[in-house]
Formats: sequence, structure tokens, C-alpha cells
Amino acid sequence: MTNQPFLSERLQGFGTTIFAEMSALAERTGAVNLGQGFPDTDGPQEIAEAAQQAIRDGHNQYPPLPGILPLRQAVSEHRARFRGQHFDPDGEILITAGATEALAAALLALTGPGDEVVTFEPYYDSYAAGVALSGATRRVVSLRAPDWSFDPDELRAAFTPATRVLLLNSPHNPTGKVFTRDELQLLADLCCEHDVIAVTDEVYEHLVFDGEHIPLATLPGMAERTLTVSSAGKIFSFTGWKIGWACGPADLVSAVRTAKQFLTFVSGTPFQHAVAVGLRLDDAFFSGYTDQMRAKRDRLCNGLAAAGFDVLTPQGTYFASCDISSLGEHDGRAFCLALPERCGVVAVPTMVFYDNKDVGAHIIRFAFCKRDDVLDEAIARLATLNR
Ligand code: PMP
Ligand code: GLN
Repeated sequence: MTNQPFLSERLQGFGTTIFAEMSALAERTGAVNLGQGFPDTDGPQEIAEAAQQAIRDGHNQYPPLPGILPLRQAVSEHRARFRGQHFDPDGEILITAGATEALAAALLALTGPGDEVVTFEPYYDSYAAGVALSGATRRVVSLRAPDWSFDPDELRAAFTPATRVLLLNSPHNPTGKVFTRDELQLLADLCCEHDVIAVTDEVYEHLVFDGEHIPLATLPGMAERTLTVSSAGKIFSFTGWKIGWACGPADLVSAVRTAKQFLTFVSGTPFQHAVAVGLRLDDAFFSGYTDQMRAKRDRLCNGLAAAGFDVLTPQGTYFASCDISSLGEHDGRAFCLALPERCGVVAVPTMVFYDNKDVGAHIIRFAFCKRDDVLDEAIARLATLNR
């Protein structure tokens, strides 16, 4: 028997992600799972068919390190079509094992002990782990319910001489916030003033229901210092395929590629071919998808409100939040752990994504990327809570 602790010091406290914990809870109790954000309906058949065709065509060995050229070209075309950004498929685009790998590789490549990473809390859980793995330190700025605003002075104070990276997620998981142009301008000004690199997680870029998705890289002075990250998982409802990408200036992408080659090296050849097909679908597919998810947002939010919940309607993403204070509840984690037993629904406590637990203790998150009958069943169960 060894006396060595198995988990390294850098990973202390990271245990099992809340999504895995909550999915296991849903499985164990048979509760309706509105916890982990994955769609329960697959994406377009023609994309799935393209993956099968790629396997039949023999695209089954390692792809090139930066990803197959047709996918890099399709990413480039997609960024130009929807965002007015221009990236050279040869050197400015890197295909990754989901956005998760792009973000981890970026943090490992760009930061180390003594460096600081500024991000907003609540943050997507892999951010804290990625920063910890690189040995850097996170500096969080709080987004506060109900409007998910932040204090500009708190943001300014988070930038120090040690700041190396701003890690921004918009549309934002778990709050559903879509950062405004004014907010992005302040972030851009701070990045330029402090010579900081921005890493932007835009996986929900096609899930904006109110307002507009503005990539930080499109603000003046930012293209040269921004790594733009996105993923097919959330755009096409194939979260298990894990095809993501990172775009930016060639030297920045090259640094990320150096780290990435020792994480997975490469992955998902046939899926890369299929995602290239998906990114070239016509505009009607993308707008139709947004409309479909907006309808689900409205279905869940209206249902939750009718069931007596204090709903914080999101502008984007797959997630709606509720403030449970009005139910007389103040500990979101305890509330979510008890919810399957109380009424057969799984939600995620937003407080686990805060360093300052008090700020988010009363907020919980529901995923609405589910079939309408599943949403209706969850709402009906949640309505029984106070009876
Ligand atoms: N960033 C955010 C904000 C997410 O919600 C997720 C989960 N989809 C990811 C990154 C990870 O994306 P992927 O599955 O492509 O690794
Ligand atoms: N992005 C998904 C969510 O926020 C979860 C992905 C995961 O389980 N890591 O719910």
C-alpha cells in the first residue's frame, strides 16, 4: 500500500465534475435530467451520414496535426460568413478535441506559475482546472444576479502586472449572459492597456436569443491578441464528437498547437469530415436552430414561472437560472441534491462555479436543450414542489 496521495497538489479540490455527479444522480433516481447540458435530440441527419460516409471512405487514420484541410477551410468560411473574421486555414486555425482541449492547451501554452488569468465567475468548470493544471492563478470577477452585471472597478482591479490571459465566455455558461459591446470594449481596453492575451470561448455562438454575439476579436486592437474558440458540439448537437477549433494569429495558434500535440495529438478524423459538411449548411439551418432553442427557452422559462419559480431568463446558451430565495431556500447545492427526491428533477447549483460561494448560493441552473415532452414533464414535477 502506498502512502502517496494519488491526486497531485494542482488538482486538489477538483474531484468529479458537477455534471458527472448530477448525471449519476439522475441515473440513480430516475429523475428528469435538466442538469448536464447536452441535447437529447441528435443534430442533422446529413451530418451524421457524412461521418458514416467518411468512415466508409477510409478516413480512419490520424489526421494532420492542425486538423484536416477541408475542416480548416470550412471553419474559416464560417467565421467570415457569420462574424466577419478572416483566418488563414493554413496556420491560423487549429482543430481540437472539443473546445475543452483548445482551452486547456491555450492555458498550458500561454501561462505558468506566477501568471494570472482573469475570468468571470460563475465560470465553466474546466477553466479553473485548466488554470490549476498550468500552475497559474485565477482572478475572478463576479457576475451578479439578477442581471448578471459586474462592477467595472472590480474588473479593473483584477488586471495586475501578472495578468497574462483574459478567459472570456460569451454567450456565458451558466448564466446565459451575452456580453454587450460596451462591456466588450472595456475588456478590450484592459487587454490592450495591460498587454494581455484574450481567449474567448464562443461555443454557444449560435445560441443567442436576444441581442447579438460579438466576438471580442472583432474589436479594434484585439484580433492580434485573441484566440477565438468554438466547437461543433453545441452548434450541431453532436456533443459526443468533441470537435472544436481555435483561431487566431499564426504565432498564437502555433503556441497552442505545441501544447495540443502532447494532449491528444489529433482526434476524430471522420467527425472532422462531417463537421466540415455541417459548417457549410445554409443560413436557414443556423437560424432555424436558434429559433428552435429560443422556443425551448421560452417553454421552460414560462413553465417554471407558472410553477412559482423566480426565473432569470437567459439571453443565450442552453441554460435558464432560477433564484431559489423566493422558495425560502438559500443553499443551491443542498437544494439540487434534494430535488430528485423531492420532485424527480435534476438541476445544477450555480454556486459550484463561484469562488465566492455567497454570491451564487441562491441560484440554480436548468438545461432546456431537451425534447418538449421532457421539459413539460420536468415543469409538471417542479410545480408539485410547494404543494
Ligand atoms: N465551454 C463551455 C462554456 C461549455 O459549456 C462547454 C460544454 N459544451 C465547453 C466549453 C466544452 O465544449 P466541448 O464539448 O466542445 O469540449
Ligand atoms: N457543457 C456542459 C454543461 O455545462 C457539460 C459538459 C460536461 O459535462 N463537461 O452542462
